[in-house]
Amino acid sequence: MVSATPLPILKDNYAWLLVDAASGAVGLVDPAEEGPLIAAIEARGGRLDTIFLTHHHADHVAATEVLKGRYGAQVVGAAIDIARLPRLDLAVNEGDRVPFGASHAEVLFVPGHTRGHAAYYFPAGGVLACGDTLFSLGCGRLFEGTAEEMFASLRKLAALPDETLVCCGHEYTESNLRFALSVDPDNPALQRRAEEVRAVRAAGRPTVPSRLGEEKACNPFLRARDAAHFAELRARKDRF
Ligand code: ZN
Ligand code: FE
Repeated sequence: MVSATPLPILKDNYAWLLVDAASGAVGLVDPAEEGPLIAAIEARGGRLDTIFLTHHHADHVAATEVLKGRYGAQVVGAAIDIARLPRLDLAVNEGDRVPFGASHAEVLFVPGHTRGHAAYYFPAGGVLACGDTLFSLGCGRLFEGTAEEMFASLRKLAALPDETLVCCGHEYTESNLRFALSVDPDNPALQRRAEEVRAVRAAGRPTVPSRLGEEKACNPFLRARDAAHFAELRARKDRF
């Protein structure tokens, strides 16, 4: 069973602390700031087995070398982006299984935000580390991919079980909420999520992980009818 805890870093990023209960294995997703992450690892006994990288942007990878040097963690990232990622110990592709303690991650190739973006799904625990592909109530910008690619990537993630925990790379939920409400003002599931998001942020707590089933009910980008509709929504959000 794998658990995931958001660790706020930088301005609005989350790294994710993963723990496999059966083995005690510890992982980090997208470690980009060493201070708070070393503190979190030390608080758990100073063990770091695996670093999972979703994509090459500095706000997701910047502390990788320091943490690997300090703890000897294995670094996992997408083979297709090996030239732009920190040095990888394990270069992975769509469908690969990455052992993690007594559990494992399944690799999902989800281009769109970048052309080499990967997501990691841990079936034991239903944890999805999805970087800047899917956010709560939003999705990543199309820096390198087409709307068709991103739409297909989101559909791939949406096919996971509804209970899946969406562990994304940023706390963007409140601003995504404003756009979502402008698109879908009469959606009761979104209205309920809006109240929850406002209360959670007012208390200074993370709005994520969210549940995939809730995202499918509330997130306008997962509710897009087809790639053309998705492209129109993404362009509108870029100007919002
Ligand atoms: Zn990014
Ligand atoms: Fe990012």
